[in-house]
Amino acid sequence: MEANPLTVAQQQLDMAAEKLQLDPKIHAILREPTRVLEVSIPVKMDDGSLRVFKGYRAQHNDAIGPAKGGIRFHPDVTMDEVKALSMWMTFKCGVLCLPYGGGKGGVAVDPQTLSPAELERLSRGYMAAVAPIVGPERDIPAPDVGTNPQIMAWMMDEFSKVKGGVTYPGVVTGKPIIVGGSLGRSEATGRGCVIIIREAAKRLGIKLQGATAVIQGFGNVGSATALFLAKEGVKIIAIMEIDGGIYNPEGIDPLDLLEYRKKAGTINGYPGSRPIDNEELFSLECDLLVPAALENQITKENAGRVRAKLVAEAANGPTTPEADAILAERGITVTPDIMTNAGGVTVSYFEWVQNIMNYYWTEEEINSRLEQKMVAAFDSVYQMSQEYQVTLRMAAYMLSIARLAEAIKLRGWV
Ligand code: NAD
Repeated sequence: MEANPLTVAQQQLDMAAEKLQLDPKIHAILREPTRVLEVSIPVKMDDGSLRVFKGYRAQHNDAIGPAKGGIRFHPDVTMDEVKALSMWMTFKCGVLCLPYGGGKGGVAVDPQTLSPAELERLSRGYMAAVAPIVGPERDIPAPDVGTNPQIMAWMMDEFSKVKGGVTYPGVVTGKPIIVGGSLGRSEATGRGCVIIIREAAKRLGIKLQGATAVIQGFGNVGSATALFLAKEGVKIIAIMEIDGGIYNPEGIDPLDLLEYRKKAGTINGYPGSRPIDNEELFSLECDLLVPAALENQITKENAGRVRAKLVAEAANGPTTPEADAILAERGITVTPDIMTNAGGVTVSYFEWVQNIMNYYWTEEEINSRLEQKMVAAFDSVYQMSQEYQVTLRMAAYMLSIARLAEAIKLRGWV
């Protein structure tokens, strides 16, 4: 049976709390989100029928600042998944020292089945329904699986209408540039991932030039990660998508693959490659394995077969706690999601800051600030892992929870 992501997130918290000897009162606060909202969104379909979609928003903890986190449009979205993702966002913001707590939202829908007009009505309907609890000072959504900058633009517009016609660019991030988006945001998660891979590879003695990589998921994060890895001289030997995967030991050019997919509508059949399934993908011998799709992909069933030196979690929650223990025992380093994929929320933070200032930075400024923040986060996590002799995941949780605990105490909540 698939692990419930909320149980996984709580187990990860429990393990770090034990190591830190965390005050049980603070531990109890952190085990559950502060606020959750479930909404029903009626949408008029193009054929005149009506569908009612379930939507969710969870705000995990605002001890350090407003909630921040994406909105997912995917058929498997549940309240527990959204809660888990909101917890991971709190810990991620803590690792990066961003002045936020975690939030997450979602709608149970396959966006591929909607027309553009239906997608717009659903996006606006979701924002109108959650508007009472979001806002630039309360909770700032962003894109996640199945959502994109256009959807963020509709949501920003809807929020601005609901609030009486004043434009609120700071209510969501990941917007198109012309309506208050930040340069560098769309590829920030992939760029950040590769910064973390580079720093971890240095410590492990892996030379990126000529190293091999396997990537699961070729969406926003997976494709950007592939492009930045290729720039570092990494050879990408396999890529997996929802509808199939490709393998070529001679290497796959991600830019060319993107061009191919534009025309073919799929990565399948890419010249020079042969098909591969998820089972084979996770057991390929390689230097870097990058899960960049969804949760629960590396499990106790396949963790024993992983033959990578470094697993870089570009997706949120791709490794179950059982699998994590197996990988650690086998000496495989894992850079955890709450650090590895934090480039997205970091540039979202920069976007929000720019929206509030109404002054916009250059792409070079954004990228250099991102580089600084990611390297600083990696250094702190690495140092903590050495000091306590724990995995990078445990160190990341410990660092983040210690910061949160300090804020909670100072605010007098316990
Ligand atoms: P996306 O929708 O752009 O891409 C997800 C990709 O995964 C799709 O291309 C899909 O085909 C593929 N996929 C889905 N199920 C699969 C399966 N079983 N096997 C193989 N491939 C599969 O989403 P994204 O924004 O790239 O997000 C990917 C992951 O990264 C998610 O876990 C998300 O929460 C996380 N993340 C995203 C961001 C961001 O800025 N977009 C930031 C941090 C974390």
